[in-house]
Order: sequence, then C-alpha cells, then structure tokens
Amino acid sequence: MHCHSEEELARLALTQAPAEAAAHLAECPGCRTRLETYRRMAAQLRLAAPAPQELRRQAYDILRHRRLLAQIVGRMVTEEPFRQAVRTDPTTALAPYELSSEQQAALRELAQEQQETFQGLLDERISKRLGWP
Ligand SMILES: [Zn+2]
Repeated sequence: MHCHSEEELARLALTQAPAEAAAHLAECPGCRTRLETYRRMAAQLRLAAPAPQELRRQAYDILRHRRLLAQIVGRMVTEEPFRQAVRTDPTTALAPYELSSEQQAALRELAQEQQETFQGLLDERISKRLGWP
C-alpha cells in the first residue's frame, strides 16, 4: 500500500484506523510519525474546546447585561418616580435587578444627570413657549 496523504492522515487521527491503514502504519515509520503529529493536534483542539464555550457564555452575559441596562435606563427616562427612587435610594429601587453596588452607583449618577438634563430641556422649552429669554 502507498503512503497516506496528509488529508488521509488528518482524518485517521480523528478515528480508529481501518485494518488496511493499520497494516501500513505498522510497517511505515514515516506515516506513523506524521499521524502522531495529527493526533497531537487533535488532542490540543479537544483541550481548547471549552474555551469557545466560555467565550460564548461571556458574550451571552454581556448581551444579557446590556439588555437589562437598556431596560433600566428606559424606565428611568419614562418613569419619573422610578428615576427619583434611583437617585434617592438606588439600593431599594434597583433591588429586583441584582446589580453590584458599583453598577447601582453608576445608575444613580446617570439618574442625577438625566434629572439635570430634563430640567434644562424643560426650562428651555417653557422659556421658548412663553417667549422668555
Ligand atoms: Zn507510509
């Protein structure tokens, strides 16, 4: 039997070698050495397999947190009492969202900024409508 091609060896490394291939491998050190290289590569890829799954979990977490954050910020924009609660008592107001104290502090700051921005916009609009400078 002829020596195995690289493609054949790469495929053999992932499976049990059929009898014909096993017979050639038994008598050909060259093919055995090249097959070992592919077996090592396959083993390393299997070891690396958990990494992408961990990355997927992290990516999922990031998306989940972004969604949650968008939801909270949306409520802060549309629900004045909620925005006030986040400003004055973020721990209680944000309790259902299970956020870290740093995240709560950041949202409290945002609520404060929103408050000032809205105040400014409101003043400006009222001023315009009333014809005040
Ligand atoms: Zn060979």
